[in-house]
Amino acid sequence: MENVYGLLGFPVKHSLSPLMHNDAFAYFGIPARYHLFSVKPEQVGEAIAGVRALGIAGVNVTIPHKMAVIPFLDEVDEHAQRIGAVNTIVNDNGRLVGYNTDGPGYVKALEEEMDVHLDGKRILLIGAGGGARGIYFSLLSTAAERIDIANRTTEKAARLVREGEDGRSAFFSLAEAEKRLAEYDIIINTTSAGMHPLVNEQPLSLERLQPGTVVSDIIYNPFETKWLKEAKARGARGQNGVGMLVYQGALAFEKWTGQWPDVNRMKQLVIDQLRR
Ligand code: NAP
Repeated sequence: MENVYGLLGFPVKHSLSPLMHNDAFAYFGIPARYHLFSVKPEQVGEAIAGVRALGIAGVNVTIPHKMAVIPFLDEVDEHAQRIGAVNTIVNDNGRLVGYNTDGPGYVKALEEEMDVHLDGKRILLIGAGGGARGIYFSLLSTAAERIDIANRTTEKAARLVREGEDGRSAFFSLAEAEKRLAEYDIIINTTSAGMHPLVNEQPLSLERLQPGTVVSDIIYNPFETKWLKEAKARGARGQNGVGMLVYQGALAFEKWTGQWPDVNRMKQLVIDQLRR
């Protein structure tokens, strides 16, 4: 019998996850299928009970349920607990275990796609929302020299730095970060500024950007934001959000099946779909 996997979210219909996972199951000859499950916020508990009752082998969890699923799980791993959000659930013989592969996926994508070692690097994280949280706590587990946070609402950046309890971080307003841009080796945009349909928005000015800096934007719609294009035009090495999407999926796939999928194959499928 086929194992069932899927995505719990609301809405889910534009998700690229079925494309990646179903291809990877077929590639390894694993009899399994990944489905989309549209779950209303008030039905999260019932949906998790359904995963248990129906023996669904594993699910991803997306907006707006990443926090809401936690009370219904048997166990949540340390990293997911720390950020307070789960994006992957493994059904281990009836025991539901929650993980978060977003931040670790991002860091792996950054290291592999951009061929950078984070040891000793000075990193600026722009944004302090859900995406930033996972990335920030994953960056804290690297040997980066500095991991500073700038956000439009500075208090949110301050809160995240306090939660991190790590002497390597400071927080700034966006205006302050603009002035300090030349201090960083890696600059990461985790805000939604520039995301479709508000494609002309930019998180901060790149006037002081140094050529050679790695500039990463976790947005993948549009494929390359106006801000990322400008960074590249100023001599930066640029990365878009496709890598994070693919690697968080690859890490989930590995947790479910024990197999590390072909990430380049996954990436190509996603890129082809996004370019359609
Ligand atoms: P979120 O929790 O709503 O946080 C949004 C963040 O963006 C906040 O820090 C917010 O600042 C900031 N922001 C919004 N508009 C801004 C503007 N005009 N100028 C400056 N800052 C602005 O959202 P999220 O879940 O973290 O998602 C953020 C982005 O990441 C989205 O575009 C999403 O598609 C993308 N994302 C990509 C992946 C991937 O796999 N590649 C994964 C997750 C998220 P305030 O705190 O001041 O409001």
